[in-house]
Amino acid sequence: MEKIVSLCKRRGFIMQSSEIYGGLNGCWDYGPLGTELKRNLKDFWWRRMVRERDDIVGMDGSILMNRQVWVASGHEATFSDPMVDCRNCNSRLRADQLPERDGKRYCPVCGSFDLTEARAFNLMFKTYVGATEDESAITYLRPETAQAIFVQFKSILEVSRKKLPFGIAQIGKAFRNEINPRNFTFRSREFEQMELEYFCRPEDGVELLEYWLKERLKFYEEIGISSDLLHVHQIAPDERAHYSQGTYDIEFEFPFGVQELEGVAYRTDYDLSQHQKASGKSLEYFDEETGQHFVPHVVEPSAGVDRTVLALICAAFCEETITDQKGKAETRIVLKFHPRMAPIKCGIFPLLKNNERLVGQAREIVELLRPHMMVFYDESGAIGRRYRRQDEVGTPFGVTVDFDTIGENGPSNQETVTIRERDSMKQVRVPIGELKSVLVDRIS
Ligand code: ATP
Repeated sequence: MEKIVSLCKRRGFIMQSSEIYGGLNGCWDYGPLGTELKRNLKDFWWRRMVRERDDIVGMDGSILMNRQVWVASGHEATFSDPMVDCRNCNSRLRADQLPERDGKRYCPVCGSFDLTEARAFNLMFKTYVGATEDESAITYLRPETAQAIFVQFKSILEVSRKKLPFGIAQIGKAFRNEINPRNFTFRSREFEQMELEYFCRPEDGVELLEYWLKERLKFYEEIGISSDLLHVHQIAPDERAHYSQGTYDIEFEFPFGVQELEGVAYRTDYDLSQHQKASGKSLEYFDEETGQHFVPHVVEPSAGVDRTVLALICAAFCEETITDQKGKAETRIVLKFHPRMAPIKCGIFPLLKNNERLVGQAREIVELLRPHMMVFYDESGAIGRRYRRQDEVGTPFGVTVDFDTIGENGPSNQETVTIRERDSMKQVRVPIGELKSVLVDRIS
């Protein structure tokens, strides 16, 4: 994990928020490459979940909502962790994560047994809306994106003119004042979620839960997270939320242990019913065929963007020993991202930087490819080093313009370039005219 964190910082994937002031615990900034990676992930989720389907539409809800939303959803009363304080060193600790000695729980920071009773600590960030800071102005930063979907369910159903089963998808920020943010970005206080609420008839819920579990597992394969690294954990009936009729956690083998990436839950009609009761507004669906009115049930696949980005990096990280042309062994660090996810798709290199024709041709290729993919032009240093720099950030392809390209070695390879593949390090020659279509096929 240390190597991964250090690579992320060194190459501008992820760094501490407000670092020059000592950071802010549980908050992270994504640098140039991390932002591209995150965007590729969100775009691909959106493509699979919304654009390529007839039965799902998107929305983008506000982060601040009427406080009553959080009262009705149960978050205000119960979205909490049990906490104890250590009377000796004043640390605040999760009551359910304390170590024990001789059957007694103690403080992992100072070792003292002098702990307070456990009490609930609400994880929502409280804030005030408007100029007065009194009780009537309180609301919270949303701890999940889902509630915006539930409260807009009826309007979106009407404007999109969909019939059950249909879903509403959303990607957005969520905030939780986690007691113990840790494991890099895995447990953060500010993070992003990709959530789908898939509304259905009550009799279809159980089957759709299985359907969505399969769909979501397929998605992880499609972004290059092999099923060997994933685990499906079925939550036992006594451990899942009281309203749920089935919940799966999709877990990933992080270097710090097997941990949740996504929850897929059949939440029955709990959320819509709660909001219907609290708001007094009907959230029922009218079935034209049967003439029935009822509150739809919902299946929710809820994934974390940041956790998936971290899983992508962990799954891709690779250290290989290779021998160079002179027979010397060296270590190659490679991020073996699926080309779909890779922040930079193609490095473009003139063999030498002080040759105008090589540079001019390479620049033309940059312009040719740029409208279709993220490219990176690099002319400095030996070509081998330039390849290594791209390997380290997971660029799947490298295009080199050499003397053959510009016809200095005769006409046979003129107007062709080499494409080097990151994983095999093999090179193939391709006519410049075919370059775009060859690469676009490989990254989409
Ligand atoms: P955990 O048990 O790890 O706290 P959770 O079960 O509370 O997670 P959900 O409420 O089901 O999580 O949220 C759905 C998804 O949102 C999670 O699977 C995870 O990917 C993401 N998520 C939740 N909390 C955090 C966090 N603090 N930091 C980063 N991602 C998070």
